[in-house]
This record gives sequence, C-alpha cells and structure tokens, in this order.
Amino acid sequence: MSQSPTHALPSYLDPEHLGPWGVYLQQVDRVTPYLGSLGRWVETLKRPKRALIVDVPVELDNGRIAHFEGYRVQHNTSRGPGKGGVRFHQDVTLSEVMALSAWMSIKNAAVNLPYGGAKGGIRVDPRTLSQAELERITRRYTSEIGVIIGPSKDIPAPDVNTNAQIMAWMMDTYSMNEGATATGVVTGKPITLGGSLGRVEATGRGVFVVGCEAARDAGVEVAGARVIVQGFGNVGGTAARLFHGVGAKVIAVQDHTGTIYNPAGLDVPELLVHVSQKGGVGGFAKAEPLDPKEFWTLETEFLIPAALESQITAENAPSIRAKIVVEGANGPTTPQADDILFENGTMVVPDVLANAGGVTVSYFEWVQDFSSFFWTEDEINQRLERIMREAYSSISQVAREQKVTLRTAAFIVACTRILQARQVRGLYP
Ligand code: GLU
Repeated sequence: MSQSPTHALPSYLDPEHLGPWGVYLQQVDRVTPYLGSLGRWVETLKRPKRALIVDVPVELDNGRIAHFEGYRVQHNTSRGPGKGGVRFHQDVTLSEVMALSAWMSIKNAAVNLPYGGAKGGIRVDPRTLSQAELERITRRYTSEIGVIIGPSKDIPAPDVNTNAQIMAWMMDTYSMNEGATATGVVTGKPITLGGSLGRVEATGRGVFVVGCEAARDAGVEVAGARVIVQGFGNVGGTAARLFHGVGAKVIAVQDHTGTIYNPAGLDVPELLVHVSQKGGVGGFAKAEPLDPKEFWTLETEFLIPAALESQITAENAPSIRAKIVVEGANGPTTPQADDILFENGTMVVPDVLANAGGVTVSYFEWVQDFSSFFWTEDEINQRLERIMREAYSSISQVAREQKVTLRTAAFIVACTRILQARQVRGLYP
C-alpha cells in the first residue's frame, strides 16, 4: 500500500496533527533565517534541556490507590533558572508540557526577565477530586519533582486549574523536605505566604495593556470597541473587566459551559458574579446563547483567546473578522492560521508578549521574597505596565524594520537574547 506524502512526514511536521510541540518547532524554523551567526546555536531551542516524568500515586477518599502521570520540563536555563506554571488537566501530555516550557523560555526572554523556561503538569481532571485528594496529589507531585526545582533552579507558578492554595501546598511540601522555609520556590502564592499583590490579575492586565498599545498602532479606538473572549477564568475574566472598564463592549464570551452573546455589550461585573457562582458563563440571563462555531465569525475589534492551545486553526481562521487578536492563552493559534490571519489583515499580538504579565509579576514576587521587602499594588501595576509597554514597543519596532509579524519579531528578540547567553556561556565541558 502506498503512503500518502502527509503520512511520510514525521508526526510533528504533519500539518494536520502538529500538536503543540510541532507548532513550536515551526515557529522556531520561521525565525531561524533572522538569527544571523547565532543560527549555529538554534538546535539548542529545538530540544528541552531536561524533562522529568513522574508517577504520582495517591490514596483516594474511597480507599482506592490511583496513579497519575506528572511532568516537569526545563526547556532552557541559559538566561537564568527555569520558570513557568503547573497545569492540572485531563489532556496534559509530555508534548504539550514541552511546548509550554519552550514558550516560557521565549516569553521570559521577550520581556527580558532573568529566567529560562519551564513548565509542569499532571494529567488529571481536578473536578473529579475532593479538596483532600487535590492536596495529596499536589504534595506528592511536588515531592517527586523536588529534585529539580528550587528558588534558584526552577520556580513553578499557577497555570490552568491551579491557584494560590495549590502553590501554598507546593511551597510547604518543598520547605518540609528541605528543612527550611523557602518562599521563593513558587510564585502565585497567597499574600500571607509571601505572595505579591496584583499577581492574580497580572496576566489579564498585561493582555489589556498590550491590547491598548496594539489598538493605537491599528488606529482602533478602545472606548466603544467590540471585544469577544474565549475562556473566562483568571485571564479572560480580568481582561474583559478591564476592557469593559474603559468603555469597550464585550459582546460575546465562550467557555466550556457555553457561548453567550449580547450585541449591546454584556454586563461584565454581573457576568463575573455569575461565573463565580455557577462555574461558567453558560445560562447567563442577560445574553442569548450562540452556536459555538458562530463565535469565531463575529465582527469585532478585539478577539481574545484565553483558554487552551490550538483554538484558531486553518478551519476557523478564514471566517475570523477581528481587527486585533490578543493571545491571552498559550499557543492558541496554529502556524497555518497565523498565515491566514496575516493575509486577511488581522493583527495578532502573540502569547509570548500578550500574556507575559503573569510571569512578570511572578518575577516581582520572587524578588520581593528574596529581599523580604514588599511593594504596594500601585508600584506593582506601574512597573508591570512599563515592562509590557516597553516590550510591545521594542518588538513592534523589530516587526516594522524586518517586515515580519509581531510573533516572528517577538521570537527574533527572544531567541537572540537566549542564544547570545548560550554562546557567551559556551559549552561545558
Ligand atoms: N502560567 C503562567 C504563564 O503561562 C505564569 C507562569 C509564571 O508565573 O511562572 O505564563
């Protein structure tokens, strides 16, 4: 039987089944021609420095022993310790965590934080766990990855389905094993435990700040602009609230419980209350339900994907009628969709820039923990806004000079910084 050319390709190059790691590899290939002599080191970016797979056995409340697979991947540590969140989700795979860790390397370098990139996760649906089971799984996972994390080695943080309480258990478990309290081992902790003011809303605030910068470049007035948001958790909910606060109209929101639409603009504060009570946007009274596919076809100034990877694909990209896409999620757009959006004149503010606000305030938290001196919320928000604006401005300047998209420009800036560090450190031995 003859194989079709598509099947002859390695799976990560098959355009239909790239998977997140394959998407990342394509993004690196796109930037390589712009790296000059640093291109000699580019292979460094195409493989993670270290990947740990751990078995996480837990006794469930009913007495049964369950096993879950957990990961911690350190993609690159050339510019500093590994840094990146921990995700609890039923679809977590090694390939996904590898890609997410690599995007952390790019993100941290793009906004010039002194970190490499790392990410972790457990393949588990946390909605099926009691609070006690969640604590046990978190503690055992932390203990298993304890050999490679640490305040100056690799610093986890919240990501999809993880929060300040989970960070508190991680910090406690690591500290117990070390025999000393180590607040700097994780960020996104509760305020009472060395957490930082402004951390919870930092990612959404960063999305809003760079969204406004992009709007100025695109000649879009933010007051009165239409906004549609996919995902209404920490990132999408905060971004929607901030856009609503300056007079933008959030006309549609989609999450795992439904898609809602109100062309006059949703009452975002009321929707946030509904979501905190009901667990999702589905069933919100002052809106009409919308077919999930139609969400992607709405005419709008801003589209904010703030859920999971690979949501904007070759399939739905042709119907997108947004002026600006601001990527709150990590990896929401495939390379094929990127090309389609570019051809159709949609501006895409890439994840590695748009959602860097979270890790930026994580960095502030880590610095505050080390110095045991804590800043006010105003100081934090001002510093965050300055970093996001400066990163946007230097990346958009590269985009203009090199005539490339903002994503390729962000990768040029970030990969150059990482590979310069790689080169000047040299190979050991
Ligand atoms: N999980 C967040 C991200 O994807 C934050 C990571 C961090 O604060 O270290 O950027």
